[in-house]
Amino acid sequence: MPKHRTSRPKRKTTHIFVSPRLKDQIRLGHPWVYRDAVERVPAGLPAGAWVRVQSANQQALGVWDDRGPIAVRLFSHTSVPDPAWVKVRVGEAWERRAILRDSNKTTAFRWIYGESDELPGIVVDLYGDEQSRRVWAVVKTYSASLNKIRDWVVDALTSFTRLTGIVDRSGESWSMLKGTPPSSEIIIREHGYRFAVDVLRGQKTGFFLDQRDNRATIARWSQGRRVLNLFSYTGGFSIYAAKAGAAHVTSVDTASAALATAKHNFRLNGLDPGEHAFVVADAFDLLAKYHGEGKRFDLIIVDPPSFARSKSQLAQALQAYRRLNALAMRCLQPGGILATSSCTAQVSLDAFRAVVADAAADARRRFIILHDVGQPLDHPVAAHFPEARYLKFMVGQVVERV
Ligand code: SAH
Repeated sequence: MPKHRTSRPKRKTTHIFVSPRLKDQIRLGHPWVYRDAVERVPAGLPAGAWVRVQSANQQALGVWDDRGPIAVRLFSHTSVPDPAWVKVRVGEAWERRAILRDSNKTTAFRWIYGESDELPGIVVDLYGDEQSRRVWAVVKTYSASLNKIRDWVVDALTSFTRLTGIVDRSGESWSMLKGTPPSSEIIIREHGYRFAVDVLRGQKTGFFLDQRDNRATIARWSQGRRVLNLFSYTGGFSIYAAKAGAAHVTSVDTASAALATAKHNFRLNGLDPGEHAFVVADAFDLLAKYHGEGKRFDLIIVDPPSFARSKSQLAQALQAYRRLNALAMRCLQPGGILATSSCTAQVSLDAFRAVVADAAADARRRFIILHDVGQPLDHPVAAHFPEARYLKFMVGQVVERV
């Protein structure tokens, strides 16, 4: 890869000294400098300013933020990024996902996953409508200090593929950064299945792209089974299970609009929603009720939203996972399959395995892990930034105590 050269004069950067404790992480390329590590903040430094961070003998270049726990997001060891530098990163991220695009069975994926694609704090998801072939990008930035770089990213996107519009979902409501907004329904294809997605108002950027491969995995355990899909959103796991020959699928979510779309998605895939169940309910309450009634399933999928926003909520998140998984295990037929997930970044892989083992003991069962994975290739994890790995997904058999 040739080094990018610029003919323009070097842009001004402010030198910032941070704790020598950060020396190793800066050498490795870790992109975050927490505010409490900054030794002296130059007066009047505006958000978005380029800074050269120095920790002992290590240096890197990044963007200053005047609020939030992250004071600097580091982009480069070598040069201050400019539009051409950003375009190279966008192109590298595009190539990294080539095998996803080439399959032609998947039209929605994460194009830029922030830190892992060397564009800290910036996420771009792509949604292609399978009928019209029109494509929208959905952008999410984690700080207003990144707006200038976000604009460079937006300019770069259209040099790699044709886009009908670029939507911003960083704030409470959506806005357009470029082009024409989509209707409330884009029909994407995922592993050949069709899903209606509302990128303007749906949760996150419209669809939980990170579970794509895990949804496909569930097909292996679905044939002939009575399936309970908890936290189903628009029926992602349900469709895969039903298409793989599940005897019956119950989809559960607190959001009735998501379940209405789930029914629509059944139809889009040639399935009759009338043959399955859609229940607007709290998953915890419903499991307790099913257990009391003696209702049992052969496969239960558990994919709750994040239970913790910060480290301080870790203990209560672990408690919630323990209770939820124990309840689910009690509603499984002996030898049944539990597919359980955690997207809480603060919960490590080991902690999640341990909490599921605790849940099994609470339910007087044992959990035998058959499959244990994380994120698909459009959510890569840089080795020097393990924080990028937030998704845990285990499929296991729940057996009686012997
Ligand atoms: N499995 C889904 C994604 C799940 S996202 C997929 O493959 O697309 C989490 C979902 O949980 C959201 O749709 C949210 O509405 C729902 N939810 C949040 N709290 C809930 C609760 N207590 N009980 C049931 N559903 C809940």
